[in-house]
Amino acid sequence: MSVSSSCIFCSQIISNNTSTKLLHTDDKVVAFQDINPSAFRHYLVIPVEHIATVKDLQPRTQDYSLVSHMLDVGQMLLTRDAPNSTRYRFGFHQPPFNSVNHLHLHCLALPYSPRWKRLKYSSLGPLGGFIEARKLLERLKP
Ligand SMILES: [Zn+2]
Ligand SMILES: [Zn+2]
Repeated sequence: MSVSSSCIFCSQIISNNTSTKLLHTDDKVVAFQDINPSAFRHYLVIPVEHIATVKDLQPRTQDYSLVSHMLDVGQMLLTRDAPNSTRYRFGFHQPPFNSVNHLHLHCLALPYSPRWKRLKYSSLGPLGGFIEARKLLERLKP
């Protein structure tokens, strides 16, 4: 398993050197609250293994099932914690728009707070920006 010591998610979250409350852990992924939430509920789901960005994922079974598992966990947590939300969003920032170089799925139960934060989660078409988890899964289909 690859872990990067210079990565804040590996050194703090995965190694559990943090006061961050983990909402879910299993052998593949860990979930926790975004420290700077953009919506009513805003969680991150990250792989235990250090994968830098969506660019490091390939159309193969292993990567497809990882992303699909991340999405399942995110959906399960938001359905549990924000059952009355009218809209959910699940997706990734593509580099250079990503904040941390450890793959993380943003799980948002809307509304956004404050409202302008929605801009952070918009697709910029060919420039990249935010990619919906479903769309990424289509790309990764083996
Ligand atoms: Zn990492
Ligand atoms: Zn991000």
